[in-house]
Amino acid sequence: CGIVGYVGSQQAAPILLDGLSKLEYRGYDSAGLAVRNGTEETEVIKAKGRLKVLFEKTNGGAAVPGTCGIGHTRWATHGEPSENNAHPHMSDDGNVVAVHNGIIENYQELKNKLLRKGYTFYSETDTEVAVKLIDYYYKKYEGTPVDAINHSLVRIRGSYALAVMFKDYPEEIYVARKDSPMILGVGDGESFIASDVPAILKYTRNVYYIGNLEMAKVSKEEITFYNLDGEEIQKEMKTIEWDA
Ligand code: GLU
Repeated sequence: CGIVGYVGSQQAAPILLDGLSKLEYRGYDSAGLAVRNGTEETEVIKAKGRLKVLFEKTNGGAAVPGTCGIGHTRWATHGEPSENNAHPHMSDDGNVVAVHNGIIENYQELKNKLLRKGYTFYSETDTEVAVKLIDYYYKKYEGTPVDAINHSLVRIRGSYALAVMFKDYPEEIYVARKDSPMILGVGDGESFIASDVPAILKYTRNVYYIGNLEMAKVSKEEITFYNLDGEEIQKEMKTIEWDA
């Protein structure tokens, strides 16, 4: 039920764990994170239960080095609370890794389509379907991550805040949202993603609010916004004046 993302020059995992702890009030039954260390394979670590379990499993984040990552606390809607159903979820070849808040209403129909295309599923979540749909369109059209996510979003019904990493883009995180909260924070040579302000307030007060059916490409130096047609849109940065 909470999302945190980081890309910059610091170690990502400790920042993700810290941010997730600030979102604990939203409730959750499991947690997980995925970290990129340059072009190496993405490391995914998940744990059922308290954030403390994930903290211990990753040695406070030290066990998963890398400067780009996404973290998640899950409030199960599709599939029981378990390590297997916890996020992040990924495509079989590790091409796409993502975390998701919300509900994909037509996941069964999309899953059937993907099953016909030869995809298999390891979890019971609606989220794994979204991840594999993005992977499917990324490969089918051989376009950019923004194209692949756009093709997927026009077919997804429901609510989502999504943070997605692609194997080919080790220092970028792509986000999209509809009816689930998400903000983007701008630091000095680093960028943050969060479900809510308290998760990142310690690091920056400069934020962008991403609108419904909008997407963004998040890298350490800049954040670029897109509409559902894949066209770039301009947004105004806001400053958070209050304290958490
Ligand atoms: N529907 C997704 C799941 O059950 C996401 C739940 C959430 O928002 O945490 O895995």
